[in-house]
Amino acid sequence: MLVVGAGLAGLSAARAARELGFGGPLTVVGGEIHRPYDRPPLSKDYLAGTASRVDIDLQAEGEDLRVDWVQDTAVSLDLGRRAITTATGSSYAADGIVLATGSSARMVPGLGEGRPENVLTLRTIEDADRLRSHLTPLAPRNRPTRLVVLGAGLIGSEVASTAAALGCQVTVVDREAQPLLRLYGPDLGPRLEALPARSGVTVIADAAISSVETSSGQLVSVTLADGRSLPLDVLLVAVGAAPETAWLVGSGLDLADGISCDAQGRALSDGQPVDGVVAVGDCAGWWDHHLLRHHRAQHWTDALERPALAVASLLGVPAPRRRPYLPYFWSDQHGVRIQMAGYASLADDVRLEVDDPETAQLVAVYRRQGEPVAVLAVSRPREFTRWRKVLTTTLGHVPDQPTFASAVAAPAAAGPTPRHLTTSSKELS
Ligand SMILES: Cc1cc2nc3c(=O)[nH]c(=O)nc-3n(C[C@H](O)[C@H](O)[C@H](O)COP(=O)(O)OP(=O)(O)OC[C@H]3O[C@@H](n4cnc5c(N)ncnc54)[C@H](O)[C@@H]3O)c2cc1C
Repeated sequence: MLVVGAGLAGLSAARAARELGFGGPLTVVGGEIHRPYDRPPLSKDYLAGTASRVDIDLQAEGEDLRVDWVQDTAVSLDLGRRAITTATGSSYAADGIVLATGSSARMVPGLGEGRPENVLTLRTIEDADRLRSHLTPLAPRNRPTRLVVLGAGLIGSEVASTAAALGCQVTVVDREAQPLLRLYGPDLGPRLEALPARSGVTVIADAAISSVETSSGQLVSVTLADGRSLPLDVLLVAVGAAPETAWLVGSGLDLADGISCDAQGRALSDGQPVDGVVAVGDCAGWWDHHLLRHHRAQHWTDALERPALAVASLLGVPAPRRRPYLPYFWSDQHGVRIQMAGYASLADDVRLEVDDPETAQLVAVYRRQGEPVAVLAVSRPREFTRWRKVLTTTLGHVPDQPTFASAVAAPAAAGPTPRHLTTSSKELS
């Protein structure tokens, strides 16, 4: 078995393969020099300096998955041979391939060109180290560091919050009039837009950068369309992440927003599952039978939990007993924890079950035709967990599990049985 991408989803796939009894050769090809590490702390504790490099390792010391870890970047996939080639010219063929290449931070056209060294994005450890060195320079200024964050989504908001706690003067600029509407809906979005003020962060909504000023290779200010000028020491561009799928163009796989997959994570080609190839984590858009479309979740819990289902499909064994799937994410920002589960976009009504404007705590239940479809909580973990359980029971989805015909023989009759993908091989070309 071959896993491409050594992030959380790739690691979860490798773990699932071993847990499900796969005893054959398992190779993980990952583009970074690091073993799998956790990304959520990069905008939180790690950026703040309260979590170390070791703290964010995803593998416990001593965990031995009997994996051949290869640091290299896949540049093409040959579906017929079920093989990849890499940037160093190597080729890896396998009976089962897990695509887990994640996503990369988007850059705004015009800002990235001749990229001044204080215009940053945040996806990797190196990005976080660079950002931190700008927020807390070795030679401190005699005034707070001025950070402008472009984009008021989850990562932008978390960095704004962390930077404010480090003593920076933070301004968030977003082109949307109601930046959080897309995440939380029209009733709750405006409500959560009050959070940044708690940390002294200024948000300028409905704004676009019309020009930038540079000096000695550094960006020194941005000017907004309404003429306002924002002097800055560092600009973080946090406008979302694009799936890492450019290397798959021409492979025959269906690529839309990520690798289009069925509800078990089987990659599609012309709408049909491809034998022996699954996609998991941020690079994959699985079919969602509530949304009735392919959906790229881009959240940590998806990358942790869903690879097991895809790998079970690949191996032709029953899926392990896991919680039925329900979208979930959390975000720590401005002194609160936001948690959301379910399908808020399907709701026709939202009601606040708990509402304490002083502490910002709230619990909101989204309903469709009277039935709960999603829950949002701010620093109310107990109520949130109760609602998440209810929603998991009513909406949680355990898809039927067709298996690949040609990758392996029929699944064992009872329970996960060791299954060996026999012809995994590595050829150096
Ligand atoms: C700063 C930050 C904060 C976050 N905070 C939260 C949060 O609070 N809550 C939450 O739910 N989610 C959060 N997330 C999202 C969560 O971390 C991701 O959903 C998760 O990391 C996805 O894991 P993945 O393995 O699919 O992708 P990734 O973690 O991106 O891993 C993919 C790996 O594949 C490698 N790769 C890419 N292309 C190739 C190639 N061609 N060949 C070989 N290797 C390749 C990449 O280098 C990378 O190492 C956050 C993300 C970031 C960046």
